[in-house]
Amino acid sequence: MPNDTSKSRTIFQRSSEVIPGGVNSPVRAFGSVGGEPFIAAKAEGAYIYDLDNNRYVDYVMSWGPLPLGHAHPAVVDAVREAANKGTSFGAPTAAEAQLAEIVTERMPWIQKLRLVSSGTEACMTAARIARGATGRPVIVKFDGCYHGHSDGFLVQAGSGLATESLPASGGVPDQVTGVTISLPFNDIEAVRTCFQMYGKEIAAVIVEPVAANMGVIAPAENFLQLLRGLTKKHESVLIFDEVITGFRIARTGAAGLFEVIPDLVCLGKVLGGGLPIGAVGGREELMNNLAPLGSVYQAGTLSGNPLSTAAGIAMLQTLNNETVYEYLNHYTERITQKLVELFAKYDCSVSINRVESLFTLFFTENEVTDFESAKKCDMDKFGRFHRAMLDNGVFLPPSGYEAWFVSLAHTEDHMAATLRAAEAFLKSE
Ligand code: PMP
Repeated sequence: MPNDTSKSRTIFQRSSEVIPGGVNSPVRAFGSVGGEPFIAAKAEGAYIYDLDNNRYVDYVMSWGPLPLGHAHPAVVDAVREAANKGTSFGAPTAAEAQLAEIVTERMPWIQKLRLVSSGTEACMTAARIARGATGRPVIVKFDGCYHGHSDGFLVQAGSGLATESLPASGGVPDQVTGVTISLPFNDIEAVRTCFQMYGKEIAAVIVEPVAANMGVIAPAENFLQLLRGLTKKHESVLIFDEVITGFRIARTGAAGLFEVIPDLVCLGKVLGGGLPIGAVGGREELMNNLAPLGSVYQAGTLSGNPLSTAAGIAMLQTLNNETVYEYLNHYTERITQKLVELFAKYDCSVSINRVESLFTLFFTENEVTDFESAKKCDMDKFGRFHRAMLDNGVFLPPSGYEAWFVSLAHTEDHMAATLRAAEAFLKSE
């Protein structure tokens, strides 16, 4: 039975009059799954509530920043305390030093970092540092990876562009995307050929070490190691975009998990505990290219914002504990196993990709290893699945190209509710 969502519908109508599509980030509009989004009222632990007081087990979890669950007391108290002292200063704070120290301790390949306000800014700045340091123009990325919405990255990008089936964004001149090369993910031969042809022009290779914006896709065996080798050989910068994976798939992120050390790392999401933040960090001599030390300009009125740094410190201190990651991985392992069994029982072909606590369920009988194979999955069926889950009290990411996010607050009860909702969908098909 669909829930009563009349209050949500009223607000969405109002929003749609004054906000394009009624949303401030496209995937939230439910465009690819159909129906209208609910309007969020509050969230706690593993649950999100809409304006009509319907409760959903949440697997969106703000798209990744909340591995402790919604409104975790450590984070909320830290933000409250910081807010009492002022919400923004425009002068450096001790909290910025503390957060940067925590990051450099946990990820020692980050010797220095610059705090920004979003993952987009982090990736945009990483590209600028790489170009400034090498004096080369070209950035190599991978089809289906998403590095935020700065102009040069909007080529064959994942996330919202995949959802909207856009190969590139309007409003971006060819002159800008002309210096971006996008190659198939997991295709090391394509990277080798690209370096043979354009090696002297390539400032950087940027990659999501675990792709999570075309659905979750693990790096092929040795893919990251080989990328490291090729970039080193050609004196290009290797950038790991860990906006999703950082502090999520392991304490030390993907670089630590796969033991491949990039030159630059982009962070966001978990780093700010649910408040706006991003960071770019890496080897000291690269980072020293940034103004005021070097010629690469970057700035931000709210960079290092005291509420974001307070939330980030509380988040990272609470996450400094392997048992948190063991729990997240264990929950994910169990729920993915049980989903596979359940879908098999109903003869419904699915392929679930999982890397630690990140996963995506694809409607396909084939393996999903890159953007091409992800695009072959049955997205109409995902839309029906999404709506049925919502009607049964489970909020999945409203696109088949996204990762599902779990948290410490997700328990056996939430898992059972999720499986019951999935079974209701399977019975209705
Ligand atoms: N990189 C990756 C890997 C991301 O997943 C995202 C956002 N989902 C970004 C960059 C951009 O981050 P933001 O939305 O904070 O600008």
